[in-house]
Amino acid sequence: MNPAPSLLDLARTRTVLFDGAMGTELMARGLTPGAPPELWNVDRPEAVREVHAAYFEAGADVVSTNSFGATPLKLGAQGLEARAFELNLAAARLARQAAPPGRFVAGSLGPTGRFLPPQGQATEDELAAAYAEQARALAAGGVDIFLIETQYDLREALAAVRGIRSVSTLPVFAAMTFGAFRRGYFTLMGDEAGRSAAALADAGADVIGANCTLASEQMAGCVRALRAGTARPVIAQANAGQPVVRPDGTVGYPLTVEEYVRFVPEIVAAGAAFVGGCCGTTPAHIRAMARILRGEAGS
Ligand SMILES: [Zn+2]
Repeated sequence: MNPAPSLLDLARTRTVLFDGAMGTELMARGLTPGAPPELWNVDRPEAVREVHAAYFEAGADVVSTNSFGATPLKLGAQGLEARAFELNLAAARLARQAAPPGRFVAGSLGPTGRFLPPQGQATEDELAAAYAEQARALAAGGVDIFLIETQYDLREALAAVRGIRSVSTLPVFAAMTFGAFRRGYFTLMGDEAGRSAAALADAGADVIGANCTLASEQMAGCVRALRAGTARPVIAQANAGQPVVRPDGTVGYPLTVEEYVRFVPEIVAAGAAFVGGCCGTTPAHIRAMARILRGEAGS
């Protein structure tokens, strides 16, 4: 066996850089808004590989697979539940093919879109089983770690950790999406950042984080709130500002690359071991972040 250093080992030596948004990059290549991006893992694999390659070329250490909406439950809303294994397997293989030696692939797992009581009728076991099935396919396709993202209900995030842990021993990153409020950082469901971090660490997540919703200028405070709840490493992936609906109905993000990356040193100083971008970020943002992080390392 090749004793390649793990992503967690790398984070002990320097700040690790993830990629930026995938959906908007695919739309720029012709994906129809509202269409399931995961279908392109099979129908337009070269476009997906090209986005991954662009992020690696920009300096990302890690790219996330095009599988954010690919739990069988979420795909089921589009009549694609039966293709969950195939689409996740393809997602992982495409990112793996694009990854140069020594770089990493994160298997992305976003919310199922189902709600637990009292908002809905889903059960935690049902959610855990859906994440387990997705994780099995992502692992079969060769991911290095799992990245649970954009979770707004701590109970679902915990079910995701449990589901993944039932099928794999690979590292699990668990990121939730918090808004900034006067009293701190909370999800839509009212889960506080530090308390969520502690619960996710107890459940066995290796890295805890925040992604989406917050702009880069708001992220350092959230990183501090997460670190108040856990000693585990933290990942932070901010949006390029708050979404703006353009006259033609498409959604844009207002921050320029320069405005966005200005806050990266503060996010790192707050204790983020892993940084990347979320909605509205592009390979240009990641390239600028890579330049800042390399400067930080003095090389
Ligand atoms: Zn986002």
